[in-house]
Amino acid sequence: MLLALLFVTGNFPPDVAQKLVGEALTSGIAYARLEELTDTIGPRLSGSAGAEAAVQWALKKLQQDGLAAHLEPVKVPHWVRGEESGEVLPSPGVAGYRLALTALGNSVGGSASAEVVEARSLAEAASLGAAARGKIVFFNHTMSAPEDYGKFIEMRTRGPSAAARVGAVAMLMRSLATGSLRSPHTGMTSYDPDAPRIPGAAISTEDADLLHRLLRRGPVRVRLSLGCRMLPDADSANVVADVRGREKPEEVVLIGAHLDSWDLAQGANDDGAGVAMVMEAGRVIAALPQHPRRTVRVVLFMNEENGLAGGKGYAAAHQGELGRHVAALEADSGAGPPLAVRLRSGDGGSSMLAPWLAPLASLGIELGEGDASGADLSPLDPSGVPLFAVHPDVTHYFDIHHSAADTFDKIDPGNLARNAAAIAVVAYALAEMPGTLPRPAPKPSHDKQEVTRPAAH
Ligand SMILES: [Zn+2]
Repeated sequence: MLLALLFVTGNFPPDVAQKLVGEALTSGIAYARLEELTDTIGPRLSGSAGAEAAVQWALKKLQQDGLAAHLEPVKVPHWVRGEESGEVLPSPGVAGYRLALTALGNSVGGSASAEVVEARSLAEAASLGAAARGKIVFFNHTMSAPEDYGKFIEMRTRGPSAAARVGAVAMLMRSLATGSLRSPHTGMTSYDPDAPRIPGAAISTEDADLLHRLLRRGPVRVRLSLGCRMLPDADSANVVADVRGREKPEEVVLIGAHLDSWDLAQGANDDGAGVAMVMEAGRVIAALPQHPRRTVRVVLFMNEENGLAGGKGYAAAHQGELGRHVAALEADSGAGPPLAVRLRSGDGGSSMLAPWLAPLASLGIELGEGDASGADLSPLDPSGVPLFAVHPDVTHYFDIHHSAADTFDKIDPGNLARNAAAIAVVAYALAEMPGTLPRPAPKPSHDKQEVTRPAAH
């Protein structure tokens, strides 16, 4: 019975496993490339010179690796930060203090000098009513673990509009972070079309604690000035590179990451690491003596951070092929130790894939339950594309996420290589196994990063 089952489902060719895992674990190429991307190109916010340089860099590397690589144009928002500052103004019983502050991505610029009022949720801000008029609404929260990010992210994405509706002149928020040495964490905000557009900024968690303590004593005034602005949309591109399948080239296993990053640092963890991992997985698969049956496609998306233009653009450009996208991954959870492979497919997908994941045992990775989604993959949901993920330990991911501390030194080369090896193994398995995964029920696109941007000016 077991033999019969193996005959039908097949399993991972041991010589291929040895080549993929051995090469990814020993080449050092993913780490060297991440160093090159972060130290020689640096921050890669959409529309910036860094983003453009990264596109050209990745195209060249993927071509050198023997993949059929090309660019697919997308228009991206072009937001620039400018000078920014903020301070607690001195008053009787309050020491003047310079705040560690940074504008939220896509915020309008402007300045304000006003009394601060604290809110713990969007609903609490709404209930402030006239008490918020002419003031700065300060959103405070209790994020202490990675899973809290989803609980409080609406303060960032919708906080400025919620504050503006009750007459506030600016919005501050406690950084969405699990660790801090007074580094503020940025991230995209958006504006409701029917609310005034007021400046929004994040402050370090330490400074949020300070404001909270001062507000217990009495009135607190803050001055802030944000020099950020939105320029006209810019031309950019997704980088798309194929290891063409030997039998069914029209069937595609997509392995992606996002090439853009925030501007405050090098974007090493978010998402340079993911870029290095999927490039390495593509490289080791392309170097095999024989390509897998199906095409393995590396996609480096542009503009995940503040618009999702690359994810939406890819889905639109490939609409006719999405029914033949047999699985997709986005590596965008940092480079912690890889723990598990996660799968979102139709019923029976896990038992079909499990026999093909034997090479992962040596890496200590199991097939587990959990979220396999990626922001750039969300536009594929209506087409019912099965999703998979190699899930790393994210315990410290939000310590540095979207902050000036997201730098190359935070990346462990061994963990980076193990993630790359695991992605290569799962991608190869999905591209080589005789059948394809059952597809999940199509979901409407939830557009979790849908953005209403300020008009370019
Ligand atoms: Zn990311």
